Amino acid sequence: MNKLALYCRIGFEKEVAAEITDKATALGVFGFARVQENSGYVIFECYQAGEADRLAREIPFNQLIFARQMLVVSDLLSDLDLADRISPIVEKFVAFSPQFNLKQSTEIWVETADTNEAKELSGFCKKFTVPLRQALKKQGGLGFKEIKKSGVTLHCLFVANNACYVGYSYNNNHSAHFMGIPRLKFPADAPSRSTLKLEDAILTFIPKEDEPKRLNDNMIGVDLGACPGGWTYQLVRRGLFVYAVDHGKMAASLHDTGRIEHCPEDGFKFQPPKRKKIDWLVCDMVEKPSRIADLIAKWLLNSWCRETIFNLKLPMKKRYQEVQQCLQQLADKLDSHGIKFRLQAKHLYHDREEITVHIQVKSAV
Ligand code: SAM
Repeated sequence: MNKLALYCRIGFEKEVAAEITDKATALGVFGFARVQENSGYVIFECYQAGEADRLAREIPFNQLIFARQMLVVSDLLSDLDLADRISPIVEKFVAFSPQFNLKQSTEIWVETADTNEAKELSGFCKKFTVPLRQALKKQGGLGFKEIKKSGVTLHCLFVANNACYVGYSYNNNHSAHFMGIPRLKFPADAPSRSTLKLEDAILTFIPKEDEPKRLNDNMIGVDLGACPGGWTYQLVRRGLFVYAVDHGKMAASLHDTGRIEHCPEDGFKFQPPKRKKIDWLVCDMVEKPSRIADLIAKWLLNSWCRETIFNLKLPMKKRYQEVQQCLQQLADKLDSHGIKFRLQAKHLYHDREEITVHIQVKSAV
């Protein structure tokens, strides 16, 4: 197995290819990305055997921006006999099991890419999962009863009803979601659908066990570009008091909570009220990404907040390069002021032409 499969939003294959090529090169692993536009995934083929496994272990998954999932895969199994697709798939898993421990696998996900055509296979994938799971168990697979961080998840990525890649991902370095997509339910009382973007971001960037410590009712947030209030809703729901900055109208339901103050001001000029310590800054204004990056840098350099989640809208062209440039520019500014921070950026499932960035200040001098 010398290939890595990376799932993504349809239309972002080139960004994934550029990103994985950079990350692999940085580790001294060389190969090439096979890009099929609008396929919803990229195959990165390493020149040396065993190196895909190394990439799957050593590239921190949370540092990949455009990839939703990362797994080591076999060559494509094609022309599968529709009367028995299970035997060759199980054989393939068994053949590869010296490379990973089949016994220490925790789950089998029978997946497709996230495209309309591919999703037509999802009914079949669902039905196929149970017999495939049983067949793998007979071979000693899926030995872990519960999801263990030390285990691997098995994947079967169907690209046609008679063709699939089989592979595995490391549970401590992958997306814990089937197809790399979190299933979030839209809260009926939220003022806008964009509420799911911030929820997705919080779930992605903040470990569940840290949430009560990092988002709670002793805290104050600022939401720049807040109206009608989908992001503010997520903060208020977690107990924060929020200054909601926007010339627009906030949902009445949020005013009713008594946990917001609406500030009809320009988000680029707004400053935290005197003597108020702001814990969180969130920002969803539609603006040039470099302008947003500068604004966030201003907040962090002035110590106006300790933690922030914001969007960077993507340009039509050179999306990967633009993102790299903005993030580098921001990181350089923080570095030059001696600020220690953790930065994560992700093209989340609920993001379209934008990515979401999270920065947590660790210490400031
Ligand atoms: N996050 C919001 C939600 O979940 O409901 C949606 C935000 S919407 C995508 C962008 C908002 O940014 C708009 O309401 C717009 O009025 C606001 N906006 C744009 N430029 C702004 C600026 N310079 N200052 C304040 N708000 C601004």
